[in-house]
Amino acid sequence: MKLFNTLTRKKEEFKPREPGHVYMYVCGPTVYGPMHIGNARTFTAFDILYRFLKWKGFQVKYVQNLTDVGHLTDAGEDKIMKGAHQRNMDAFAFVELMIEEYFKDLKLLGIEKPDISPRASEHIDDIIKTIQKLIENGYAYESNGFVYYDISKIKDYGKLSKQNTEFLEKQRNETNGEKKHEGDFVLWFPAHKDYPMKWDSPFGVGFPGWHIECSTMSSKYLGLPIDIHGGGKDLMFPHHEDEIAQAEGAHKSKFCNYWIHSEFILINNEKMAKSIGNIITARDAVNKYGDKAVRYLLMSPHYRTEINFTEESMKSAQNTVRKLIDFIDKIQEMKPKGEFNKELNKKVIETKNKFEKGLDDDLNMPIALAAIFELVNDTNRIMDGNKLSEKNLKDVYDLLMDFDKILGILEHEKEETPKEIINLIKARENARKKKDFKESDRIRDEIKDLGYILEDSPDGPNVKKI
Ligand SMILES: [Zn+2]
Repeated sequence: MKLFNTLTRKKEEFKPREPGHVYMYVCGPTVYGPMHIGNARTFTAFDILYRFLKWKGFQVKYVQNLTDVGHLTDAGEDKIMKGAHQRNMDAFAFVELMIEEYFKDLKLLGIEKPDISPRASEHIDDIIKTIQKLIENGYAYESNGFVYYDISKIKDYGKLSKQNTEFLEKQRNETNGEKKHEGDFVLWFPAHKDYPMKWDSPFGVGFPGWHIECSTMSSKYLGLPIDIHGGGKDLMFPHHEDEIAQAEGAHKSKFCNYWIHSEFILINNEKMAKSIGNIITARDAVNKYGDKAVRYLLMSPHYRTEINFTEESMKSAQNTVRKLIDFIDKIQEMKPKGEFNKELNKKVIETKNKFEKGLDDDLNMPIALAAIFELVNDTNRIMDGNKLSEKNLKDVYDLLMDFDKILGILEHEKEETPKEIINLIKARENARKKKDFKESDRIRDEIKDLGYILEDSPDGPNVKKI
């Protein structure tokens, strides 16, 4: 299996540190509001990776943090405090509620829960220990209630995001303020006396920076070097760069072997931004287009290509999902009476290989999905006029449901056909028996007006919701 490693900018053969085991970390959300579709894209991309690794037989330990501690973004915004304030809630009660909402959103999108979801607020002691280690090892210093990371102490700072030398030199410029160099970043903030989320520490009362929580919790639960570290590509700098600097400075070990980054989602060809006012929440998208269609849109392109969220792309995702589900229903309902078809049997084996080969190649989902559509078309073609054997149909069904352990879009409850429709179908059958075709056509139209479409097959009439 190959993965594109941001650290080397190459597709590399994936070799975990322990054969058969994968230790994987993905940056989780700052819990301050409903998940937007951009985060949903990132979390879906890594859900596919997590599920695929398990499907291939790896024992995966997947950790994703929950940032439930207030911190300042680069734009100087404290989203948790702002959210708590807007709702007039205690900050701790607010993050509790937001974490519940986050798990609801994951479920809504068919995203499996990580194995461990550690909260920053429950790991303050661990974070303090990492900071102390960094001070001991000479990578961090205290200044006026803050603790800063000294980036001049690490030679290869910038190795992940490949910043240009000019930028890095500027980062190392000395300053006359609290911090020694431009690029030194905060590990510990002092807290204002009215600030609610704060803890005692050897550096004074305060709260941790954002980057340090990820270095601390990933190392704690996964050991070093972790195999895979993932996140949206917007986190590459400074967040991931700083995670490396901290973990490698504190533990004197390589932090992570494979860095995986997912691309952005665009809304009608534009970047999603508060200033444009085009932020879409995952929940709104699901309410409007359905959970499976949203998941399909988020996972069907390659994870390193942009997705364009438009009315048209969502309609197309809805149609594709509907087509696949109808196909599953059709082969389940079919009454097999025929001979075992060798051609279809061969197609099933080929499809499994193509699908796996596609995902083995840096999770190339378009290739994997193309293999599925080819099988659907081939099955329909071979079925046309031929009766298939029970084994043929079961093989196709089992294969698709096996793929669905990764895709998460095919499993569904078959919708019950309403009694009213069933009675109309019976009435139509009676009319047909009496050769009253005018009446049978009238009933078919009535069924259509009620939102169902009727198709006659040699096994009797099939009804489908439009
Ligand atoms: Zn992180």
